[in-house]
Amino acid sequence: MLHSDNPAKCCSYCGGRDHDYEDCPKRKADAEKQAPKPREPQPADGRSSRN
Ligand SMILES: [Zn+2]
Repeated sequence: MLHSDNPAKCCSYCGGRDHDYEDCPKRKADAEKQAPKPREPQPADGRSSRN
């Protein structure tokens, strides 16, 4: 039973067989959700440091 009609795709992320891991829509969605926000250069104190 080696019917290679469709490419053997098996997403290791969500287990879908209609797409690869790279094309996983869920993975992309999660990636956007967990996208690191650009850090703004601000002091840890939050106030303007004066000497
Ligand atoms: Zn997937």
